[in-house]
Amino acid sequence: MSLQTIALLLILRGFSSFDVEGINYKELDKFFIEFIPYIQGCEYRSCTHVKELNCGVKKAVNKRKIDKGRYERYVSLFEKLKGEKKW
Ligand SMILES: [Zn+2]
Repeated sequence: MSLQTIALLLILRGFSSFDVEGINYKELDKFFIEFIPYIQGCEYRSCTHVKELNCGVKKAVNKRKIDKGRYERYVSLFEKLKGEKKW
């Protein structure tokens, strides 16, 4: 499957643990399309939007421009994918 196909599936069906298998956690933000306009506001290009302080995505969540539930989903998927990379 191409990244575009995966992204489309995620939009249509939502995330499941099956869908996110094989996605690099560093690319996870690409699948949360509503984050994209706010990523420009991140201090670092490699921002993961989880622990960074000066993060455009987190600011948008605080301003309720991004749904908090979606952001929390992102963080939990991020941690899951990152954890899986260790082994
Ligand atoms: Zn960020």
